[in-house]
Order: sequence, then C-alpha cells, then structure tokens
Amino acid sequence: MSSFADFGLHADLLRGLEELGFAKPTPIQSDAIPHGLAGRDLLACAATGSGKTAAFLLPIVQHLIAKPRGRTRALVLAPTRELAAQILQDLEEIAVHTPVSGAAIFGGVGHGPQEHAFRTQVDVIVATPGRLLDHLKEPYAKLDHLEFLVLDEADRMLDMGFLPDIRRVLKYVPAKRQTLFFSATMPPPIAQLAKEMLKDPATINLERQSTPATGIMQAIYPVAQELKSVLLLKILERGDMNEALVFTRTKHRANRLAEFLVKRGVAAERIHGNRSQNQRTQALEGFKNGTYRVLVATDIAARGIDVEALGHVVNFDVPLVPEDYIHRIGRTGRAEMTGEAFTFVAPDEEQELRQIEKVLGKRLPRVTVPDFDYAAKPEARLEVPLQERIAAIRAKKAEDRARSQAKGQGRAGGGHARAAHGGQGSARSVQAGGGHGGGRGVAAGRASHDAYFPRGASSGGGGGGVPGARGPSGGARAGGSRSGGGRPGGGGRGGGGRSGGGRGGYGR
Ligand code: AMP
Repeated sequence: MSSFADFGLHADLLRGLEELGFAKPTPIQSDAIPHGLAGRDLLACAATGSGKTAAFLLPIVQHLIAKPRGRTRALVLAPTRELAAQILQDLEEIAVHTPVSGAAIFGGVGHGPQEHAFRTQVDVIVATPGRLLDHLKEPYAKLDHLEFLVLDEADRMLDMGFLPDIRRVLKYVPAKRQTLFFSATMPPPIAQLAKEMLKDPATINLERQSTPATGIMQAIYPVAQELKSVLLLKILERGDMNEALVFTRTKHRANRLAEFLVKRGVAAERIHGNRSQNQRTQALEGFKNGTYRVLVATDIAARGIDVEALGHVVNFDVPLVPEDYIHRIGRTGRAEMTGEAFTFVAPDEEQELRQIEKVLGKRLPRVTVPDFDYAAKPEARLEVPLQERIAAIRAKKAEDRARSQAKGQGRAGGGHARAAHGGQGSARSVQAGGGHGGGRGVAAGRASHDAYFPRGASSGGGGGGVPGARGPSGGARAGGSRSGGGRPGGGGRGGGGRSGGGRGGYGR
C-alpha cells in the first residue's frame, strides 16, 4: 500500500496520521494492517522502530470507532512500563480525533486511577502482565468483552520471565477474540506460545529478524555513563548491527572508545580533529570497505561523511545541541532511507535529550537490551568526571602534605610519627567518604587505569598517584571541549522536521 487511505481507514484516523506526519505506511504496516482489518490473527516479526505499534493500533481503533463506549474491547500486553506508556501515547495521538480512549496499567504508580479505568471500561487497556494480574484478582476488573488481544515484544516478555503471567492473563480473556502477536525474534518458547494463542494466523516477516522501516529508526538506550562502552560492545556482540558510525562528544572519548573496542577484538578506527587528513582518509576508506566494523568520530570530523549510506549510527553521547542530532539523524522524512540511530543516554544527559525530543516534536522509544546487566560494576571508564578528578587532586595534595608533615614529625620523635601516620589515614578517609567525589575519584581512576594498562604492566605500587595523575590530564581536555562548546537556544529549528510542524496541531 502506498498510502494509509488505501486501507479504507476512517477519515478521523487519516487526519490523525496526517498530523503525525505519517505519509506512507512502513513495510510492517503495509503487511499487517489489511489482515488486522480483515479480523485475522497475526504473527509478526517486527522490531522496535519498524512502526509495529501503529500496525496493530490502526485496525483496533478503526474497529472501535463505531462501537458504543463503556466496554474494554482491546488489551495490549507489553513487557515494560516504558513501552506500555509509549503505546498509550501512540494510541492517544493516532486516535486523537476519534472517541476511542485508553489507559495504561503498570506497576510503580498508584492503583486508584487504574481501578477507575477498569470501572469505566475504557476502550483500550495497555498493560504490563504483573500489575494487570493484581487488578484481575479484584471484582471490578473485567475483561469479559475483549475483542482484541495484542502481545507486543513477546521475546522480551520471555527474557523477563513473563510467560507464566501471560498464560495466567489468558484465563481472564474470552477465547473468541482476534489476537495480534509481535516479536522481534522467534525462539522456541515464543513459537509455542504463539501456537497456543493464535488461530490460523497470517504470518509476516518471519524470515527476517528485524524489519527495516522507511526512514531512520530512532531509539534511546538509557544506560549509566560508565557502562556505555560495555553496552556498545554487547550490542555489537549480539549482532544487532554489523557496522556502526559512533559519535562521541570529545576527541579524548573517541580515542578511548576505539582503544576499548580494539582491545576486545572489534575492528575499530577513529577520526577527529587531531588526526591528520591522511589518517582520516585511511580510516574512512577502511570503514567503507569493511576493514573496520566501527568508526568512532567526533561531530566536527564527521561532517562530510556520507552517513546516509550507513545502516547504523550510534550517538555514544547525546549531542549537546539538537541541531547536531537533527543533522545526523533527523532524516526520517526522507523517503526510501533505512537505517537505525541508537542514542545512549546517561541520567545526566536527559536534559539534552529532552531538547532534542522537543525539536523533533516526539518522544523517542526507550530500549533496553534484555540480557545486559545494567547494574554491573563498570569495567572501564572512558574518562573520570571533572568533579571526581578535582577531588582526587585535592586528596592527593592532602596526602602529600600529611606525608611531609609525618616526615617532619618523624624526625622529632617516634610516637609522633605514628600519630602522623594516623593523620595520613584520615586524609584518605576524607577522600573515601567525604563528599561525593573523594573516594570514588581514586577508585574510578584506578578502574580506568586498570582497563587500559593490564595489571602486570601497571606502574605497581598501587597508590592513588598514577591513576589520579592520569585522570586529570585526560579529563581536562574533555572537560574543556565540553564546556567550550556553547549551547545555542535549542528551539530554533522547531519547524524543520515533519513532526515539529505536524504535532504543533495537538497543542502539546
Ligand atoms: P514503533 O516501531 O511502533 O516503535 O515506531 C517507531 C517510530 O516510527 C515511532 O516514533 C513512530 O511514531 C514512527 N512511525 C510509525 N509509523 C510511521 C510511518 N508510517 N511513517 C513515519 N513514522 C512512523
């Protein structure tokens, strides 16, 4: 289908889609929507970013528009609350001109409004399985009139141990219903679950692991700053992307990241302002001809790279200005382009991300890598934050002072020398416990040191001195270019993107 109107969708839905800037159905939408509208069960392999949400929401809303309100007729099951919230938001946007309403049911928030959603029987409930089951034990929660059941990201449900919960939920929903089943991959337990839940389903895209959509698919990977390099490695190891152009904020980080990857067996090169033209050309050539799987670049050096020809762009750091992001990634409106743009966002970069989303006019989907340990102790840090470096320098100075004091007092008498030794200890403990930066500064410095200089090759001694010394020098550079970047007002390009213009209509 080349347009949404070809599906015979209700005019109010078409209006919503137009305002969202959805000009053309994505491949999964072209394949899935006709089956959904025809009332068939569906088994679809589709990854985040493919447009799968609209692929299941459109047939549901189309069907519900003409129905009387006051009965919950559709249930969407999602593995995480972030996804549930995102699906509800998509529903609200798509159905904005229709009377169809929805509510999200997930943990971590109060029961009251959720109970209200059951009691008023909103049209569509989007839920995570655990909290849904809590409600279903209560007499007010009924799904007896369900006509649609959607299972989204089924393989993630499996990873998160939700399959038993899903089977429990099935006991509360009518057997006669239309079921739409989505999963990025189809491991055997998921294939089995699909068999149990679906009747004569239309199957879509089963031969493909992920579905490229029209336009760049954008996703946000929330992750601790210190775990970004390991997360990138994980994504590369999982085979989620063959090659990637990776953007870092500073030359220093570009160097460190390339080093980190090479040490772990990933062919990687870097380009940035400190590299000669020859080195840059060679790196780019090598990346294009496949010698390097990863090219790490700073923004400035990246100008002129043909990003459009690339499958994957990773924003290892959130660009400081939305314009940079738009420049690299904001190409979703251009037809026939495919690719994925992953942005790693640490908690302290949320602000920049919000700016970007504001300019894009939409919230980007958040993604978690199922078997990645988000709570892991960092194995390596690319740089030690400025605060911590300053604390480490101060601590080192205090230590030196205490040592020279101890020497002086040592000459004066043995007993005093002991006391002075205690003084040195206390300087250390200030460093460890006092103030946020102190102890962690040294520890972190050492972690990063160890990562880049194998223990045997280290300068020995084990004192905080060597890592402490490394941290400040590396970080001073990084810190300098970060603060030197300046930050333009951010809102300037609001009208540029399709969504920037389109969503204005919602008054959001
Ligand atoms: P999803 O795979 O459902 O998470 O969708 C990924 C992104 O693509 C979301 O930001 C959607 O708003 C957007 N999207 C979905 N369908 C279309 C379309 N037909 N044209 C342009 N963007 C779309």
